[in-house]
Amino acid sequence: MSEPIIALSGLTKTYGDLCAVRDLSLQINRGDIFGFLGANGAGKTTTMRMLCGLVRPTAGSATIANGDVWRDRYAVRSKFGYMAQKFSLYPDLTVLENLRFFAGAYRVPPNELGERIERILGQMDLKEKRDTPAGSLSGGMRQLLALGCALVHEPPVLFLDEPTSGLDPVHRQQMWDLLYDLSHNGITVFVTTHYMDEAERCTEVGFLHEGRLLAKAPPRGLKATFKAKLLELDARPVMDALVRLRETEGVLGVSLRSGSLRVYSPAAEDLLAGWQRQWPFPEISLLDHRWAEPDMEDVFTAYSQGYDAMLNQEAVQ
Ligand code: ATP
Repeated sequence: MSEPIIALSGLTKTYGDLCAVRDLSLQINRGDIFGFLGANGAGKTTTMRMLCGLVRPTAGSATIANGDVWRDRYAVRSKFGYMAQKFSLYPDLTVLENLRFFAGAYRVPPNELGERIERILGQMDLKEKRDTPAGSLSGGMRQLLALGCALVHEPPVLFLDEPTSGLDPVHRQQMWDLLYDLSHNGITVFVTTHYMDEAERCTEVGFLHEGRLLAKAPPRGLKATFKAKLLELDARPVMDALVRLRETEGVLGVSLRSGSLRVYSPAAEDLLAGWQRQWPFPEISLLDHRWAEPDMEDVFTAYSQGYDAMLNQEAVQ
């Protein structure tokens, strides 16, 4: 049975009247890749900064490897690497100099330094760029170097705030392959993302909404909480259909997916039966329909838009 390496208990942060993070309690097991999802402003970065000892919690507490993230923050610092949204590489220093700088800051023993840096350069595919100033690297390479710098002291936990934001699909895949390797080697990864396909790649996912944790479970478990049937329609003209369906009573929302429309409704079967009896939009042709398997995007939409009637939330709280 795996043991928690990160534990949050009632963790809260307020800024004046604004409660950025509200009574957050959860545990993350060693080796997990925990994906932290939420809209802009949901409180993800604030949570991560509290866990990194950079922001003082207003209430509650959290531990990493049993050390309190605020009270023991200087000792806990060696337990994690942190790649911030706007990470702080030194643009005038070369790739090698950046790695050496971070290794020095984290007191990596000098006799281990050479081998460790070579390994990271290999992992990040940056060997040929070792003498290039960080400021001249492409965005993707800069992000890989930032990850390398966060790993240089071999921490058991890695915090990554939107590490793939702005990356092309090839670099995104490369970043995820690295995260799998790290997780395979027992490193716990806490990662925020806005990409739903990345949420699918995590071992656990947490949904944060206005500072509150709505659900936490493996992706499969979250999808299983989607209790309503998900109707997918082909209709033309598709944008007209989207607008009209959104206005229809009983429809909570409609999204466009690969040219088809996904209809969010707790009573999709009744709606479909009515439409099959009489289609109410003469200017729109209904071509086909099917029942779809919800994916993470559907689940996230339902949680974040408050489509509670479509969810069995008790299962993941
Ligand atoms: P994003 O996806 O855009 O990065 P987020 O989920 O990381 O968003 P946070 O950056 O944690 O969200 O912000 C949560 C809320 O706290 C926001 O309303 C933000 O404006 C507020 N906030 C964050 N830091 C401060 C601060 N230092 N002072 C006041 N308010 C703050």
